[in-house]
Amino acid sequence: MRASFRLGRIAGVPIGVNWSVLVIFVLIAWALSASLFPRSYPGHSTFAYVVAGLAAAVVFFLGLLAHEVAHAVIAKRNGIEVGSITLWLFGGVSELKGEARDPGAELRIAGIGPLVSLLIGIFFGVIALLASLATGRGLLVGALSWLAGINVLLAIFNVLPAAPLDGGRLLRAVVWRATGDRTKASVVAARAGWGLGIVLIAVGIWQFFRGAGVGGLWLALIGWFLIGAAGAEERQARMGSALRGVRVADVMTPQPQTASKDMTVADFVDHHLFAYRHSALPLTEDGGRPIGLVTLDRVRGIPADQRGSTTLAEVSCRAGELVLASPDEQLTDLLPRLSECADGRALVVTDQRLVGIVSPSDISRAVQRGGMRQQMTGGRGS
Ligand SMILES: [Zn+2]
Repeated sequence: MRASFRLGRIAGVPIGVNWSVLVIFVLIAWALSASLFPRSYPGHSTFAYVVAGLAAAVVFFLGLLAHEVAHAVIAKRNGIEVGSITLWLFGGVSELKGEARDPGAELRIAGIGPLVSLLIGIFFGVIALLASLATGRGLLVGALSWLAGINVLLAIFNVLPAAPLDGGRLLRAVVWRATGDRTKASVVAARAGWGLGIVLIAVGIWQFFRGAGVGGLWLALIGWFLIGAAGAEERQARMGSALRGVRVADVMTPQPQTASKDMTVADFVDHHLFAYRHSALPLTEDGGRPIGLVTLDRVRGIPADQRGSTTLAEVSCRAGELVLASPDEQLTDLLPRLSECADGRALVVTDQRLVGIVSPSDISRAVQRGGMRQQMTGGRGS
């Protein structure tokens, strides 16, 4: 999920917001201030309802953020890097750069999110109770009660045992511990996600025709999203299983041709492109230290009349966007780090010197070979 704008960092993790959050934010604030609050707590001004609706929606999103930050903090404690947290249409996503090493870590990382949502729900429930004792059943108590209910609901929905929900990760941890087979556990959780998706679509459509309107369609949309995400998780699990034990050095193209960052695009196209057999060109400094990566797509994107005045450095991925790997690293640890800038390529370095490059076609060849190896040995992923 791409962030449309950044909000800063919490616990060292960049927090981003995708524009799709605005859709759900407006929907929630509108439903609260135009319908739920005026119906349940009549007698206030429109202004009061709008303020209460907006405030409740903002606090709701802060709760979502706390849920994700909790996942991120526990992931970091278990040795997994967290790339970012992004809020979007269906809540929050923490981008973990790696997988839990054992079922226990998986259980802790997945379980903390719903636990935090539940605690937030209980917190607002208690405050609402105290406020109602002090002031009676007013708009403020209404907003607090809604926050209590929605956070408890969030906790319950998230522990449904179906990938990619937190409950799916919990299910995976349990099956993983019981069978010792991580791939099998992932597939079970993904199938459950597929099943839950079907159920949500069916219930959503049924509700829609019974007159629930947008609420029913929303449920069906979440079901649709679950099915897609569960399918992707199953594919990823099977790929991870095919690649288990494969090192970066096993699949990389060793000693790729390189260029200097000052070479112009024209010079490269005129003198080197024909002899060049790969689709990406690493840029190195003296000593072979990689400082950039140029894909041929980027070179092609430069108009012919500007090629003489554009250097390769100007069309290169920046140093911060390069994905570096070491030859002995497991390929499955590298996969989650691959970024879009280099079209999924990684540079392999030892002692800061370039020794190879891994491209998407190297990886898909390795997946095919891994799959064949499993078939021939009758083996299963462990
Ligand atoms: Zn979660």
